[in-house]
Amino acid sequence: EFATLPDLIAAHAQERGERTAVADEQRSMTYAALDRAMDRVAAALQRDGIGQGQAVAILAASSVEYAAVFLGAVRAGCVAAPLSPSATPEALAAMIADCGAPILFADADNAEALRHQSVTAGIVRLDLPAFEAWLAPPGSRPQPVAIRPQDGFNLLYSSGTTGVPKGIVQSHAMRWAHIGRNAASGFDEAVTMISTPLYSNTTLVSFLPTLGWGGTVVLMKKFDARRYLELAQAHRATHTMLVPVQYQRLMAVPDFDSFDLSSFRLKTSTSAPFSAALKAEVVRRWPGLLVEFYGMTEGGASTGLNASMFPDKLHTVGQPLPGHEIRLIDEDGREVPPGETGEVVGRSPAMMTGYHGRAEATREAEWHDSEGNRYIRHGDLGRFDADGFLILMDRKKDLIISGGFNIYPVDLEAVLREHPAVAECTVIGAPSEAWGETPVGFYVPHTGVGASAEEVREWTNARLGKTQRLSALYPIEELPRSAIGKVLKRELRERLKEIAA
Ligand code: ATP
Ligand code: MG
Repeated sequence: EFATLPDLIAAHAQERGERTAVADEQRSMTYAALDRAMDRVAAALQRDGIGQGQAVAILAASSVEYAAVFLGAVRAGCVAAPLSPSATPEALAAMIADCGAPILFADADNAEALRHQSVTAGIVRLDLPAFEAWLAPPGSRPQPVAIRPQDGFNLLYSSGTTGVPKGIVQSHAMRWAHIGRNAASGFDEAVTMISTPLYSNTTLVSFLPTLGWGGTVVLMKKFDARRYLELAQAHRATHTMLVPVQYQRLMAVPDFDSFDLSSFRLKTSTSAPFSAALKAEVVRRWPGLLVEFYGMTEGGASTGLNASMFPDKLHTVGQPLPGHEIRLIDEDGREVPPGETGEVVGRSPAMMTGYHGRAEATREAEWHDSEGNRYIRHGDLGRFDADGFLILMDRKKDLIISGGFNIYPVDLEAVLREHPAVAECTVIGAPSEAWGETPVGFYVPHTGVGASAEEVREWTNARLGKTQRLSALYPIEELPRSAIGKVLKRELRERLKEIAA
């Protein structure tokens, strides 16, 4: 069974046309209105000669119009290519050229940011009235296009946490795998709060299923913990997707417990490490189930942990989802014995065929089992516990090798985080003449706890193995994070070079 999302939305427009499909902080659109807006977008793209399979780039803060352009492009058989406004103008120009988009939709701020770049795409302003003027006239219908499951739905650039962002095409079949999987999650009656940007897969895996099942999406342009709680309460939100740092900020809102969040049924998280203590706190203080997912934009495989149901498994990311398969391999590409740590490789019904225009990178990302089945390397290290729950260690690139010993930053971070003076922390490997590499920590101090960095380091080292001890620990005002909340260790490595110089 397969359906395209635009067809599902058309069906909802028939059956529940007056229900709100998408709301932002200014406007909202019913299913009937969204369906009509998608038709006008698709018809205008066809009028402009933009054909099936071509990329349609979008560079804007989340809004109702953003949703209409994204989904209208998909209805025309184009590949939606949402770009990150936090990328540099040079990187954006490179991505637009890389995906070959003949057209780019940008809001005022982002159009301005591209002013000094030579952009290969024609730019359409997403704000009214320019957008209204571009759209096909009200009541227009696009020429129907035949969409096959393997056709591109969207193209996303990987987060670039570890290097240059790579284009990843996700097909209609991949999207259907997400939407179908969420059939049982109550998304048909959902009011889903979304405050992460729409160019991230983290967001799309809850945005798209909510619309696929006829629920309501509430978009926030920019996350603010207090505002989030006010909106969630006002909308009687039932579902949400948040990244761990957002849960952390929400838990720190002084009067969190005075908000009425009793309408929540399902809260999800993905994209970065979520500490066991924070999961436990969210389960305790916030009604509704908490489910954590582990996966990657490339769609290798995913695991899920129902944190509300498995209080003794909060240090894991759960078990592979149905139809998803995970194996762990060593440096030589051989499977590691049960219980040992290896690189995660996975396969699933929602796997990319390859990086856009990067055959070499695609080959490097693949692994084949003895039967020739294709898996995708996740670049993360992990091991399975005796019950088959995956314990995620670190990204392979972040593993510290010191004097021949493997040191997992996660182990050190877990101890460091226990100190009352530590609000947030991270550990990286610093070059060392004697050991090759040596662990060094950074932490954001809690205001009002008077402990020096040296005291915190000694306290931490007393609780670590001899080979694991931190050589240095630096207080820092804020950890460098990507727009989706991932700690950027490569930026800290740069900072360390400056400190050493
Ligand atoms: P790039 O590949 O460009 O360096 P990225 O790997 O951060 O960027 P994404 O596809 O957005 O790009 O993120 C996938 C990665 O996020 C995973 O490989 C893993 O490291 C991390 N991740 C995802 N979910 C979790 C989770 N639940 N817990 C810990 N880490 C997670
Ligand atoms: Mg990656």
